[in-house]
Amino acid sequence: MTTCVVTGGAGFVGSHLCDQLLAKGYRVICIDNLDTGSLQNIEHITSDDFSFQIHDITEEVEVEGDVDFVYHLASPASPIDYARLPLHTLKVGAQGTWHMLGVAKFKRARFLLASTSEVYGDPQVHPQEESYWGHVNPIGPRGVYDEAKRYAEALTMAYHRQQGVDTSIVRIFNTYGSRMRAHDGRAIPTFLRQALLSQPLTVFGDGSQTRSFCFVDDLVRGLIGLAESGEHMPVNIGNPDEYTLLQLANSVIEASGSDSSIVFEPLPTDDPQVRQPNIDRAKEILGWEPTVALNDGLKETIELSGRSRLIGTIE
Ligand code: NAD
Repeated sequence: MTTCVVTGGAGFVGSHLCDQLLAKGYRVICIDNLDTGSLQNIEHITSDDFSFQIHDITEEVEVEGDVDFVYHLASPASPIDYARLPLHTLKVGAQGTWHMLGVAKFKRARFLLASTSEVYGDPQVHPQEESYWGHVNPIGPRGVYDEAKRYAEALTMAYHRQQGVDTSIVRIFNTYGSRMRAHDGRAIPTFLRQALLSQPLTVFGDGSQTRSFCFVDDLVRGLIGLAESGEHMPVNIGNPDEYTLLQLANSVIEASGSDSSIVFEPLPTDDPQVRQPNIDRAKEILGWEPTVALNDGLKETIELSGRSRLIGTIE
């Protein structure tokens, strides 16, 4: 039976990945220290093919039995989390990635690193394609996350080139769906919480900065497609439909049927002005492209999450 290790499997993206891998008939070993994830994200899983290890991957990791794939997603991922856990974020990108590459090497498994569009930093190329090396501020508040991921990418390529490990790297762009945390500071969960509470939606700057938002089911299909391909170089996975933050706020108000207004607040430091993936490589190599439009994905997120999760009375 195909066996997959998923680090960060109790988090937002990781728990959806566990669901899709189990639906494919695979065995899943989920490893998570519950820093930003939660048991609630995996409590619906009753399959005997699923096991959970509570473990901090910055410490040595032991996995029993054969492993075919290591999906390495564990890392604080939202600006609020990496501001709270700056040293841990650097350590999980470095030490955690060393440990999981070691597991992949020992088990002769295919390794997938969950990297991020943040490796591009302030995008001077738009849309961002994988050949763009980025423009990152290493000492700004986002540096701990961006540089941890850049280091993890370098480490992954070194393990591939020098140690012969079968590796892949996905650069994930903004993703949304059920199981996001209401207070994690990212735009969609924040807007949804505010809309459901009939509070004003807080848009940073004048709201003209752009983002592209990928529904989590589309992303996870891309992660599995990449892991099961033979590709070693980075591949962007994200939805190229680009929206201003103001358009996003209005879409959330419409999808939730809210009567909230919109207010404007100062832009955070190093907040990129534009963010949009070029997904030509994903289309060409994986035959992947997103299928869920923003309005449909927002409605599904509201339906699947339930009000208490979205307003943050349950995290
Ligand atoms: P998340 O915070 O919901 O999930 C991360 C998981 O990793 C959590 O369950 C957390 O408890 C776990 N974790 C953190 N440190 C750990 C450690 N030392 N040992 C074991 N487990 C640990 O975040 P997410 O949005 O699901 O992100 C998952 C991955 O995808 C991250 O690597 C993130 O950088 C990447 N990513 C996500 C997005 C997005 O829009 N969600 C965008 C770009 C990249």
